[in-house]
Amino acid sequence: MRGRFAPSPTGPLHAGSLVAALASWLDVRARGPQAQWLVRIEDADTERCLPGMGTHILQQLAACGLRPDEAPVWQTQRGARYEAALAALQAQGLAYPCGCSRKDIGEALAQRGQAPERHGERVYPGTCRDGLHGKPARAWRFATFKVDAELRWTDRRLGPQRQDVAGEVGDFVLRRADGPWAYQLAVVVDDAEQGVTDVVRGEDLADNTARQILLQRALGFPTPSYLHTPLVRGADGDKLSKQNGATALDTGTPQAALAALDRAARVLGLAATPALNCAAALAGWVPEWRALYNSRPS
Ligand code: GLU
Repeated sequence: MRGRFAPSPTGPLHAGSLVAALASWLDVRARGPQAQWLVRIEDADTERCLPGMGTHILQQLAACGLRPDEAPVWQTQRGARYEAALAALQAQGLAYPCGCSRKDIGEALAQRGQAPERHGERVYPGTCRDGLHGKPARAWRFATFKVDAELRWTDRRLGPQRQDVAGEVGDFVLRRADGPWAYQLAVVVDDAEQGVTDVVRGEDLADNTARQILLQRALGFPTPSYLHTPLVRGADGDKLSKQNGATALDTGTPQAALAALDRAARVLGLAATPALNCAAALAGWVPEWRALYNSRPS
């Protein structure tokens, strides 16, 4: 059993990302001494990442007693793997170049009298499926219309899930022409290569799962199990953001780190810890996690 925490170094750890880190760590420790917890710094989207932030996050995790069992993996060093995965999809006819700008997509949707948007993203109308129409390529997209894109799976916390990726998401981007790899492709390649069997991450990412399962199938990778953790709410009850309280965590002293962990544990439904340091608190939550999320030692 191998689990992972995969932060994007776009800012320091905050209350929400610590919940995902703690949950993925507990899920691994609950499975016994053979299980391994990995950390992957998701810095593929170099525009949004801040220099030095990956190292800072690793230090913050260590201050909370969360240390990976193997050297952390950095996505920026893995471009050749993503390249090979894209080539494999191209060879199967499952990736095609797209020349549409956001404006082109908006106009094509308006022409059809539809403007479907999900989470601020437009469902791609499929304009370039039959060629670039004389435009330069801006992105590579996954051909959802060529696969069985109606997916059902079970999330360990959210229960049975379904998504028709072709209809609800459309042909999603694998790589942008200006270079950056899309999260969907990078995460699937990395999880497979790192042998991740159990993905535990924040509920804000749950909607990506179907796209990732499609890519795993197309690339011949196994599908891990998924558990999406509760979101941390801001003071106003909304999803945590910089405006309503998502500030960097204070992990500067052992007491501050323990307090931060304790708050993260409460979000996961674990009891307040009587422990006096992070290591003891973590050890105390392991059996509780095992009972709550039914992760038996393997
Ligand atoms: N890097 C992603 C994020 O920080 C998480 C990826 C994942 O856990 O699948 O939002």
